Amino acid sequence: RLLGFLALALLTLAVGIGYATHTSVHETISRMSVDKAMHHARHMSSQIRDIEDLLENPVPAPDQIRAIRNLRQFVDVFRFKLFDAQGRLVLVSDQSMLDDPLQQPASEPDPEALKVITSHVPFATVHDGSEKPDRPELYAEAYVPLLNADGEIFGVAEIYLDQTDTHVYFHDSFSHFAIFLTAVCAVLFSVPYIAYLLQKKRTETSQHEVEYLARYDALTGLMNRREFIGRANALLTEGKLAAICYLDADKFKAINDLHGHAVGDAFLVHIAGILRSCTHHSDLLARFGGDEFVIGFKHLGQDETEHDSIVERVRSIINDAAEAFQHDEAVIEASVSAGIAFVARDRDLSAALSDADAALYHSKSNGRNTFS
Ligand code: GH3
Ligand code: MG
Repeated sequence: RLLGFLALALLTLAVGIGYATHTSVHETISRMSVDKAMHHARHMSSQIRDIEDLLENPVPAPDQIRAIRNLRQFVDVFRFKLFDAQGRLVLVSDQSMLDDPLQQPASEPDPEALKVITSHVPFATVHDGSEKPDRPELYAEAYVPLLNADGEIFGVAEIYLDQTDTHVYFHDSFSHFAIFLTAVCAVLFSVPYIAYLLQKKRTETSQHEVEYLARYDALTGLMNRREFIGRANALLTEGKLAAICYLDADKFKAINDLHGHAVGDAFLVHIAGILRSCTHHSDLLARFGGDEFVIGFKHLGQDETEHDSIVERVRSIINDAAEAFQHDEAVIEASVSAGIAFVARDRDLSAALSDADAALYHSKSNGRNTFS
């Protein structure tokens, strides 16, 4: 879920940066268009003779038409419109309009032109022309005031600028920057986040280890005394505990002394393996400490042969443990002794454990490598 959150945060960031890039590119193009249009408007004023009069009486003379034709396709400019001091359309640079001029201003003022007249502030809008047959892929419409020698507005020019190349240029530059910025942000986000995840995982792992060690024996993986007592008591309460068996390695001290502690450990692990293979998976297996193991045999139904089956399983354990065990170079001839106590219904666990311990003691006294 945390990784999903990180991915969502990065996606939001990427979309945000993408949107900011798009807006910045359009904003930049819009500002550039206003500058270019202002320049073009000044140029127009100098090239079209008596332009101020033309806006009042919109019937262009041949030399004015020539000048308009020259100006309508000039650098980035591909079209323009002229409005009078009231914001009414007077002239469009299209060929058809030059062939057949309006003769008089349009009856209603153009709202955009009016905006420039009242605010004195030029502005531009950016448009996608890819769907329109007579427009460049991306273009701007800039509305700029036409000023006389005294700095007064005598009209407004709407100048159409082809900004396709400019857009490509800025889009590429901004995109590279946006990708770089997204990558930097992704790294800045991810590094502490991944460090946090790793730390969390480490904490969880050590927590699991602590919990495991509180319940199980680290050497053999069997239950420890505490866990066994808890589980055996639960079985006893449910009436499902059939027998307790105590097991203890014979002369284990001598194995340690003769072969070393590591071989002694390997023998304990070997005995744990024998316990697992000779019991049912629902039986309880524990190492109480040292070379002492305990089995809690679980009732497997109402079978009358259960008693014998438990005895048989313990016998197999004794027999398997008595077989020579090889570890590295060492061959160990060893054995275990066991004591079984069948659990009567009214018996409590500590009494059953004492009975099994007493039976084990009996086996030890009887020469070991046997069960009682
Ligand atoms: P007995 O037949 O009477 O049981 O004789 P024993 O030598 O096995 O005596 P006892 O069971 O009392 O000895 C258990 C020994 O197990 C004592 C200790 O040195 C050794 N021991 C205890 N814990 C460990 C362990 O984790 N690893 C190893 N290798 N030895 C252990
Ligand atoms: Mg022993």
